[in-house]
Amino acid sequence: MNNLVLGGLLWLIHHYTSIPTLWLLAIFLCGSVLFSLLLGWLVSNYISQPIAILTQVVAHISPDNEAVAAPDTNTNIIGREIVTALANKIYQITTNTSRLTSSLELKNIDLHNNVIAKFLPIPLIILNQDSNIIFANGAALQYVHKTEADTVNKNINSVLNMSFKDENTFESWLMNSRANVVVASQRWDHVKLELEENPKPLFFDLAAYYNKGHPYGYETMLVLFDHTNLYGQSDNAMNYVALAVHELRTPLTLLRGYIEALEEHMGNRLTVEDSAFVKQMDAAAQQLVTFINNVLNVARINDDQFAIQLREENWGQVITSTINDMRLRATVQGITLELAIAPNLPTVAVDKISMYEVISNLIDNAIKYSANGKRIVIKSYINKYGLIETSIQDFGVGIPESVMPNLFDKFYRSHRSRNQVNGTGLGLYLCKSIVTAHGGNIWVNSKEGNGSIFSFTVLPFANLPKNLNNGKPNAVSNVHGWIKNHTLYRQ
Ligand code: ADP
Repeated sequence: MNNLVLGGLLWLIHHYTSIPTLWLLAIFLCGSVLFSLLLGWLVSNYISQPIAILTQVVAHISPDNEAVAAPDTNTNIIGREIVTALANKIYQITTNTSRLTSSLELKNIDLHNNVIAKFLPIPLIILNQDSNIIFANGAALQYVHKTEADTVNKNINSVLNMSFKDENTFESWLMNSRANVVVASQRWDHVKLELEENPKPLFFDLAAYYNKGHPYGYETMLVLFDHTNLYGQSDNAMNYVALAVHELRTPLTLLRGYIEALEEHMGNRLTVEDSAFVKQMDAAAQQLVTFINNVLNVARINDDQFAIQLREENWGQVITSTINDMRLRATVQGITLELAIAPNLPTVAVDKISMYEVISNLIDNAIKYSANGKRIVIKSYINKYGLIETSIQDFGVGIPESVMPNLFDKFYRSHRSRNQVNGTGLGLYLCKSIVTAHGGNIWVNSKEGNGSIFSFTVLPFANLPKNLNNGKPNAVSNVHGWIKNHTLYRQ
């Protein structure tokens, strides 16, 4: 092929220039040889990539070659899966062998005698492939208030009670890394650590490095960056705000009572305009109730004081009564609420009061972000997994894709919302915490400019898993804003 191209090129040159044929023939021969060599070199380089990676794996595990880093088998090579599987096998064999000889080898590289590891002024913890702590430096022991005897040879989950902001926990990352990769690293911010001896939790950012089949058994390295003061401050501020907000409840209840009495006593005598004013006052008071409840509930979640009590309920009734309460707010904004509840829904296992908070927050948002949209559609039905799914659809501003991953975070508000619509960034965080504690899921589908559909699931009463509330549907369980690191500890 390359000869054809080259030949064609030379024929053109020959046709349009006066270079002698002999010269052209010589150029043709040289060019052809050079081109073939280059092509051959590129192809063989590409084909031999897997062998190069496997060679690096062997070099990495060989004790004389400590400086050779473990290769990244995730790069774009041919036969990536086979290469990763082979690399994993090699690591496995080495680990088993190195276990036999570990006592001998560990002596040589004992981290307790390594000045850098030992005196590093940042907490450093090393785990073996069973997730047992094999080394914790002085800074780590001091930070987590433990001694070497409390930590070494103990499972990380029994020593450190870590919680994460979402399901992407250290444990899930480690399990995923063990199954799929040879080397990996990851960072988490705002990790919470509860200590038995200390009523106040510690907060830190966590960085971890994973190296499958490390020859000395140092499979996972964890480094903790303390931010207790910084992150703890927002929790303290929340408690302070909750204290202040709590004081608003009594006057607000009085105000709502007077508004209701005004409507009842003066109803007939009010002009249409006056009546509209009273309705607006009522709707504004209702919105204030949602705000106060959100602040108080989030403060309770922070303190692990938000309890839900699952009971058998008629889901249609739960939705309808909440929507009836929200109808006035919608009407005042010129929006109609359309409701479609599938017939014959089975009874559900929910805490009615908490679910009221979820539905009213989602409808409140749908109203706030409706812009020119005049309809909100609420549907409830059994989905393909047999769960009861409820969706709240608005036709308003929609949500840019870039902000979607953060929507359910505490205090998160998109830039645009911050300037245009009042809010606290607590509503969706609260919804997620409550729905998750019910064993359900919450998510959003949205397109900027076209509106959003927020959906969540609850369990049919008959499906209530045995492990939720220990199988006792009327038992109380707490709503946590945090996901515990280890699945065994998950509520
Ligand atoms: P708040 O509404 O008080 O700001 P939320 O936690 O309820 O707090 O919502 C977080 C952010 O999610 C909002 O600031 C907004 O940017 C976005 N959002 C929530 N619901 C909607 C919706 N229905 N349409 C568009 N954006 C929404």
